[in-house]
Amino acid sequence: MDHRHALFYWPDPYDVSGTEELFLAAVRENCLYESAHCPAYRRILADFGVKPEDLRRPEDLGRLPFLPTAFLKTHRLFSMPRWRMPILATSSGTSGKASEIGFDAGSLLNGLQMVLRVAAPRGLVSPQPCHYIVFGFRPHPSNRTAVAKTAFGYTCLTPAVSRTFALKRRDGRYVPDLDGVIRAILAQERSPFPTRFIGFPAYTYFTLERMRERGLRVRLPRGSKVMLGGGWKQFYREAVDKTALYRLIEDRWGIGEDEVIESYGAAEHPILYCDCPRHHFHVPVYSRVLIRDVHTLKPLPPGEVGLVNLITPMVRATPILSVMTDDLGVLHPADSCGCGIRSPYLEILGRVGMKNVQTCAAGAAELLTGAAGSPSPII
Ligand SMILES: [Zn+2]
Repeated sequence: MDHRHALFYWPDPYDVSGTEELFLAAVRENCLYESAHCPAYRRILADFGVKPEDLRRPEDLGRLPFLPTAFLKTHRLFSMPRWRMPILATSSGTSGKASEIGFDAGSLLNGLQMVLRVAAPRGLVSPQPCHYIVFGFRPHPSNRTAVAKTAFGYTCLTPAVSRTFALKRRDGRYVPDLDGVIRAILAQERSPFPTRFIGFPAYTYFTLERMRERGLRVRLPRGSKVMLGGGWKQFYREAVDKTALYRLIEDRWGIGEDEVIESYGAAEHPILYCDCPRHHFHVPVYSRVLIRDVHTLKPLPPGEVGLVNLITPMVRATPILSVMTDDLGVLHPADSCGCGIRSPYLEILGRVGMKNVQTCAAGAAELLTGAAGSPSPII
């Protein structure tokens, strides 16, 4: 029985209580596979005295040894040969160490189901052709980052009339071309097709700010949307909160807050978290979240702040069934949102040791700052 398949084809993507047994069975199945095919993971399980068959009740998920993302950045763990992994994705496209995650064909097919189910309620899957403006990397064979692959994947949710990338490759490195993006935005105001913006909030914000400085304002066609992903960490430094960004988007592009959709995910936990109309990340059925005490690492009750431990049986090629992020977060009960979705929601509050951690988004901000001081013809 392929429990993973059954879980990823579950009709309601937020029926967390209805999928408890199935989720547990899928994790047990995944754990058995990793234990049989990845000797390093087998040793980790043995060190923690955990056997796959020990995973009987939902509370047992907390016993599963978690791999910290920092560990995955220094260790390559695979459970199958390279030829069985159609995609090998890295966690970071800027600088610093990156983790390398293999994706088996089954994980990609299940992942596609997940994206369609999670993105549909926010109106992201549509036959309506769109222009895409990607605040991210133009695809290139040398760029294997999950963030570049994901952003490109999002441009396939509708037929794409055009794709404009904010980060272009010149002389072997990526440089931002915000002026090119602004030219595309001005032209798309007159297009019969809506525009979708995708990618790092930092670039979205810098582009809006540049348009504001120049007194530029457009009213993009109905159905235009902004999809934000890749983290807000740099906004703690910029001191711009989400509400201010929503206001700026409405003011400069004419896109209302309802059409601004944020996502959360990581190469090490490739589950799509899409926010609800009230901008909360409800946990989808493909994932479970444990919040752990920062000192004891013991699971905490709902409402308490701790380290975010993410669990999913999605991937077989790399044993990422339980991953410890360096995010600090809190899990809120479903009914405290009020949007009608029946699963709890995860709020990310920040990052542990933020100064020392190089994130994709912070790296992107640095890339922009660095390029702004260079003589390249960008500004
Ligand atoms: Zn909600």
